[in-house]
Amino acid sequence: MKKKAIEKIPFIGLKRISRKKDVEFVGVTATMEIAGEAHLFLEVYRNKRSEKEAPVVRIVLTEKDFGTWFVGRGEWSRGKIMGTTWDSHNLIWSEDDERIRKSDGFIARENVLNSKEDLKRIKEFCNGYRRSHLAQWEDEHWWEYIDERQRYICGEEQERRRSRIYARRQQALKERADNTPELPEDRILEYADRVIFREKHYLYYKKHGVRVRIACSKCGGVTERRWKPGISFESQFEQMVEEPREGSFGNCPMCGARGEWKPQGKMKDSYSKKAHVFLGQKYKKTGMVFRYIELEKKYLLGLLCEGKEKVMKNACEEVSGIEIARTYFEEGREPQTDFHKHDSFLGKDFWDDCNLYGMANITIWPAPILEETYEAMQGTLLQYSAMREYEMAEDAYINPTVYAAQYIKMPQIEMLTKLGLIKVVRRILKYSTGIVASEYGKRVDTFLGIRKEHIRQLIRYQGEESILDVMKLEKRLGQHWTDEQIEKLAEIGVETGEWTEVLKYMGIQKVLNLIGKYAGVEYGTGCCGAESRLRDVARTYFDYLNMRKALEYDMSNTIYQAPKDLNREHQKMVTEYNREKANLQLKEVNLKYPLIGKNYRRLRRKFCYEDENFCIRPARDAGEIVMEGRILHHCVGGDDYLRKHNDDITTILFLRTRKEPDVPYITVEIGTRNLELIQWYGANDKKTDKENMDRWLNAYVTRLKCGQIGEAEETEERILLRA
Ligand SMILES: [Zn+2]
Repeated sequence: MKKKAIEKIPFIGLKRISRKKDVEFVGVTATMEIAGEAHLFLEVYRNKRSEKEAPVVRIVLTEKDFGTWFVGRGEWSRGKIMGTTWDSHNLIWSEDDERIRKSDGFIARENVLNSKEDLKRIKEFCNGYRRSHLAQWEDEHWWEYIDERQRYICGEEQERRRSRIYARRQQALKERADNTPELPEDRILEYADRVIFREKHYLYYKKHGVRVRIACSKCGGVTERRWKPGISFESQFEQMVEEPREGSFGNCPMCGARGEWKPQGKMKDSYSKKAHVFLGQKYKKTGMVFRYIELEKKYLLGLLCEGKEKVMKNACEEVSGIEIARTYFEEGREPQTDFHKHDSFLGKDFWDDCNLYGMANITIWPAPILEETYEAMQGTLLQYSAMREYEMAEDAYINPTVYAAQYIKMPQIEMLTKLGLIKVVRRILKYSTGIVASEYGKRVDTFLGIRKEHIRQLIRYQGEESILDVMKLEKRLGQHWTDEQIEKLAEIGVETGEWTEVLKYMGIQKVLNLIGKYAGVEYGTGCCGAESRLRDVARTYFDYLNMRKALEYDMSNTIYQAPKDLNREHQKMVTEYNREKANLQLKEVNLKYPLIGKNYRRLRRKFCYEDENFCIRPARDAGEIVMEGRILHHCVGGDDYLRKHNDDITTILFLRTRKEPDVPYITVEIGTRNLELIQWYGANDKKTDKENMDRWLNAYVTRLKCGQIGEAEETEERILLRA
């Protein structure tokens, strides 16, 4: 959009305002040529005499572009004439509140074009295209022609942008490939056979009596020899071989190669082994590219049918390789991995800059790294990465692309590797960087968040996880521990959160000594049994301490700190702790349903009753209902019952025997106002002594309804005495 040029062009102006009452805005159009390109101008004026000179907006379209100039504000917008939705009341110049919905017809009356000429101009410029489903509005919705054109331009632009990005990616891919050194295939295959497949050859054999037929995978020759010495004179001149035995090794009688004996019958016509290897090469000036190559050694055995028998005809072996991924590392760039793919439709192989999706995803596994990789690293950004030291220190294959990527992000791993903190590096490579205390830390202690004086000890342990975690805890808690204490702590491995509490009232050495004493075993024996015993005891001890602390005992008391019998005291704490928790729950319930307690007196007057066998009364408070439910194992203690009682909708009553008025027996729910019996239950939701109780309760309810129970019958004092 040539904005400056467009702004300079004088306004078309509104010749005359519309006299129609509803008209708010009038559009005027013109076509113009700017810098050799056709432009459509649409100016929208307020339908007021005073605003005929300057429009609210000037919308400009070319074949491939458009823009809206808000004349008053002097701003340009890329917004489409109808906004983001196909809702015409969002016309770009509309000042209506977005929440007000007007009918399409109304909007058409509010926003009109100045003349038929204007409509024709718009239609012509926008190629007369419009959506068919709005056909009934036809030309009254003239802005839709423009909207459609604008949407078309946007889509086209998106498409262009997409293809530009694609082209750029393809260009970069090609550029990488062009700058990738050639793959020394012979060298890789030679290395693969010598080191990875260890020049493994097979000697296939089949015995016939005293003779054996042998096929060699190395030289491909087939021969027949005698393996059992004969007694005849002629047999002395026959060439002999050692007796072949499956799985053992022998020498090929033809070429002398050493190979594993394999019976003909155990060999299918082909057999192969796969492996992977990395080769790192210099890329451009200071970059590196790691090539991930899949290697295969294939063994083939040719068989020929002779009569009923299959006879070995020839044998061979071949090593092949295919590069399946390459990862580029360059200064100041994110690592980029390209993948080798196969287009089965075109039957062609090609390289792509992204992996396949789902199951076909190519995974790069740890694998041996070719020696020349490290020579190639000289002068590159990985020169000081200490990757070689890391590979040698690890007891398994490594993935150099993971190491390199992490090194670039976190150069400190060079220092860690060189110090021998292999297990720390392994952890950083494996599950990211959670153990790093400060990304910018230049020294081991600041980087990992441990005390400087313990670095040597950590190195002695190669950065062992449990030791490192204790050291980090020490630093975090502001403690100073000895090497020995750290080792012991690592051995018992207690959750870090627990130490924070315990160390507030006890010294570390005392805790360690006590755990050792309770466990009855020594620290540092390296024996599995002792270690797990220490761990178990530590867990019990911490559990004990935490409960006692939670029960608000004075933890500076040494008797509490060091009980004689840990298990017994632990059990005691468990019981006490549970009781306390239960009481707490009752308190909470009373707070939540306070009206149950408050209404007790009133309800007692209404519901209390007794005869020679039973007595019945309402619950004193919410807690009592919960307890009743707990003792009788039914659901009356639940929230729903409590709420209804609290809200005076129903009343929970306790029916008990006269002999044991304090022992829960039967729980009854009655409608507070209508005095209907809703339900009753004994222990475990059962109808205890059903017939009898039904009769008793029905009689009771009848009395309630007849007003025979209550103040008239019983005096306050009597009830108080009983309660
Ligand atoms: Zn041979």
